[in-house]
Formats: sequence, structure tokens, C-alpha cells
Amino acid sequence: MSVAGLWRPPAVGRAKAALLTIGADGMMSVADRDSGAIFASGPFSHIKISDRVGSIPRHITFPDQSVFETSDNDTVDNMVRPYARRHSGIIHGLERFHPRLLIFVALVVAFCFALYRFAMPVLVEVAVAVTPPVVPQLLSKSVLVSLDQTLFEPTKLSVERQKALSDQFAKITALTPRGMAALAPAPDARAYTLNFRGGGSIGPNAFALPDGTVVLTDELVDLAKDDEMVLGVLAHEIGHVDHQHSLRQLYRAAGVTALIMLIGGDIGSGTEDILIQGSALVSLSYSRSAEAEADRYSVELMHKAGHDPTAIARFFELMRDKLGDTSKGDFLSTHPATPERIGETRRYAEEIAKRKN
Ligand SMILES: [Zn+2]
Repeated sequence: MSVAGLWRPPAVGRAKAALLTIGADGMMSVADRDSGAIFASGPFSHIKISDRVGSIPRHITFPDQSVFETSDNDTVDNMVRPYARRHSGIIHGLERFHPRLLIFVALVVAFCFALYRFAMPVLVEVAVAVTPPVVPQLLSKSVLVSLDQTLFEPTKLSVERQKALSDQFAKITALTPRGMAALAPAPDARAYTLNFRGGGSIGPNAFALPDGTVVLTDELVDLAKDDEMVLGVLAHEIGHVDHQHSLRQLYRAAGVTALIMLIGGDIGSGTEDILIQGSALVSLSYSRSAEAEADRYSVELMHKAGHDPTAIARFFELMRDKLGDTSKGDFLSTHPATPERIGETRRYAEEIAKRKN
């Protein structure tokens, strides 16, 4: 086995094309590539081989201080491996390098985890607080446009039905801080809007975009036994908007992408990823604590408006019984109707009823 490279004499002198070889006896020598004349040689244990770091060329220093240089790192490793083991005490970092690399990787991972665990929530809150209202507005508009192009169909609900639901929706949103500000009207405030759509493949569903655009599918209206259930679901979605869950979700995802970019050193495609993730995330699953928060919000708002505070719990039970396990992206797929969830919502509704009476 031999490896090609350049040999530099110990003192000043021109580098020469050379071949490095190692004999069965462990003698390493470097020879002129053309004539085969030996430039330098020495026993393996007296030769210094630089650590492997990425694709940086390796330096092999002979006892006479002349240096052989090559970027064919794999061949060098293969060549010296059998001897390296025999002289592990003298080997210059070839094996020690790997544990060091592992420790480095472990430290980077620990650092990123700490950043994610402790710094990210603070950064997310700061980002949400300083986001001007135009950002959620633009984001919501583009998400709704793309959903209309790809997923939704026009609503088949009658105009009267739409009006009846919209009127009830307006009454409950008027009781929220955001709804009140929009009635005032305060600068920047934007009221909630209720939008009817045929759900297509997402079936019975409802979701809210961060600017207060709420979308309700015909299938959900058809499935609900009474309008209280529809309102309970809408109140839940209003809760997501009021607590700014989707903006938080978006910034968290952007933060994760930034971390991945930091590790991977890839800046170029990152922005695009954030946008793609952003539009996917805006309407889809929230964390379990965000869901619980929106459930409680529904109970409170429904109670405040003089509606049935258990409506959201009843709707979960209905969907669970009618649709069973979720498959296709309906409301249950992002809002699992677990017994704990239903029980907790009912318990909270009772508590609210007692507290306020
Ligand atoms: Zn939800």
C-alpha cells in the first residue's frame, strides 16, 4: 500500500512529488514518485502523524524533520491502522481524537438543549410581544388563500344558517378583550371573523388563524347536535387566538430551525423551511397545555355569554362516539377527545357555575 503526496525537505527546499509506503517491519519511507529514490525513512514509532480533522491534509513528520503531506486521509488511516494499535501509547492522537469528538458533540447537544429548554421560552415570549399586528394578518391571509386553493370548497350552508351562526359568534366575541377593543375601536385592533367553508378532506373541523380569522367547516356544523356545540368549539378557537398560541408555536418552530441551522451551518434553505413549517403549523396541532387552556377558555366564555359551558365537552363526546378514532385530519386529530380532557372540561364547567352563582 502506498499513498501519493508531496515531500518537503527539512530545511528550505522545493517540495517534491513523492510516495509514502510502510513495510511489514513497520518501517515507513517516502520516495521520489518518479525515480523511487528514498527521501526519508524511519520506524513507525518515531514518526509523527497529524490528527485527522475533516479534509485538512495530513502531515507525516520523519525523524529528520522532513515532512510528507497528503490529503488522501483514508489511505493514511488504513495504512497505519495495524501499526497504530501495536504502538497505541505513542500514536499521536489518531485514536484519542474520537473520544474528544464525542465529548465535543455531547457538549454541543447539551448546550442546544439548555438553550431550547431555558432560553427559548423567554425568547418566544419576547418575539410574541414585539410582533406588530401586520405580521399575523399577512400570515393568516396567505394561509387562508393557500388552503382555499388546495383544500377547501365553497360552503353549502344557506345564507340564513350562516347569518344565524355569525350573529351568535359576534355576540360571544364581543365579550373577549380583543373583540371589545375592536368595537371601541382601538388602533390596531381587529375583530374576529367567522368564515364558512366546505371541509374537503379535513371533514368536520374548525381552526383559528393568528389574526382572529376563524374557519368553520360545513361538516362540523352538520355533525353538531345543536348550535351550542358549534359555539363551544368556536369559543375554544377564540381561546387559541386570545392566548396567541399559533404565534408562539410558530416562533418555537422557527427557533428549532435556527438551532438546526446553527449546528448544520446551513443558512440558505432555512428561511424557506420556516415559512413552510409556519403555514403548516398555524392551523395545526398545539401543545397539550395550549389545548387545555383553550378548553378552559371555551368554558369561561360560554358561561359568560349565558351559553352551555359544557358544550365543548359534549361535542368531544359526540365526535368520539360518531367518528371513533381519528384518521383524516378532522377536529379530533388535532384535538384528541381523551377521557381526561372531557372529564377536566366538565369539572371546570361545574366549578365555574358554582363560583359565579
Ligand atoms: Zn384547540
